[in-house]
Amino acid sequence: MKVAFIGLGHMGAPMSRNILAAGHDLVVHDLRRDAAAGLVADGAAWADSPREAGAGREAVVTMLPGPAAVEQALLGPAGLLAGMPPGSVWIDMSTSTPAVADRIREQAGPRGIAVLDAPVSGMAAGAGSGTLQIFAGGDAATFAMVRPLLAAMGDPERILHVGPHGAGYTVKLMINLLWFAHLTATAEVLTIGTRAGVDLGTLRRCLLASPAASHFIDRDVLSVLERGDYDEGFELALACKDLGLAVDLARVAGVPVPVSAAVEQIYRQARARYGDAGGEMLPVKLLEDLTGIPLRLPAETRPAAETHRPPRPAYPMRLLRSARPFRPFRPGLTAPPSPSNQPSLSAPQE
Ligand code: NAD
Repeated sequence: MKVAFIGLGHMGAPMSRNILAAGHDLVVHDLRRDAAAGLVADGAAWADSPREAGAGREAVVTMLPGPAAVEQALLGPAGLLAGMPPGSVWIDMSTSTPAVADRIREQAGPRGIAVLDAPVSGMAAGAGSGTLQIFAGGDAATFAMVRPLLAAMGDPERILHVGPHGAGYTVKLMINLLWFAHLTATAEVLTIGTRAGVDLGTLRRCLLASPAASHFIDRDVLSVLERGDYDEGFELALACKDLGLAVDLARVAGVPVPVSAAVEQIYRQARARYGDAGGEMLPVKLLEDLTGIPLRLPAETRPAAETHRPPRPAYPMRLLRSARPFRPFRPGLTAPPSPSNQPSLSAPQE
């Protein structure tokens, strides 16, 4: 397939490499020409503008920071739409918003250019290994036509057609919003319980054995509790962008979202305090710093299976999150010996 790729950053560069490796004919463009050096050396052609990149291509992928960059690359005399031929497909894999794509689609339709939104989960590690999870929004025929191209970048089992135009963006934003909400709520629950005198490990195990259990408490929070690792693989600046887009989407949809708005504010506080490049789990540290209560499990009280985990995963939390199914805690199977002053969770539960 004749493909162009625009936006060769942390995600776009490895995704382009996988498109090349799958045997497609590739043209690349970025604001930074140096970002394309390795790809050009490996056989991709360079284009000086988005318009030039789109000329004669059957499909063009964009992987840009957000809505403003997408509009900048697509519209105007040097924009992508001005170069793409009728019958071609624009696939936006950026985490962006339905509203921007709607505006662009109004101009793409009359030119005979099809549009698909197809944002991803899996981070740079998943982009490199070609195992991204992809959520596509648009018509089914367009999705079927470009599926082989998507399969060059994602795990074939997890390339999902999730609905009409905009549905991909929406699903991606909702996944991130709920995860950030899990994180902020869990940080508060663990801090309150600990300050009120309950052992942190006991509290976590009780939560896991209860209707309040979650994948976040089972898995993701352990990065902080065991290692003080706040996951720099996904930066606070991007987390804040995603939360801002999610809350904007709620406003457009006319849905009151006091909880989501509070989560966004907490993330903005963490970004102001720890910087753009800080890890996405730093809102936990915000509370730790405010209360003086570090949330850490002493090694000897960790569940046996967990004390044998590697010190740090070889891939970021976001990838772990999507790759590992939630397994509810089973009392008696993984609980460590209880300290003598703590209730035994190995005992039959009521
Ligand atoms: P990045 O900042 O590393 O890369 C963006 C690239 O786009 C840069 O090379 C930049 O020069 C280029 N660019 C910006 N504006 C441009 C324009 N107008 N024309 C041409 N090139 C332009 O960002 P990233 O981490 O690769 O993320 C890209 C998108 O993927 C974002 O929407 C992000 O939210 C999403 N995403 C990122 C991750 C992640 O782990 N980094 C995971 C999932 C989704």
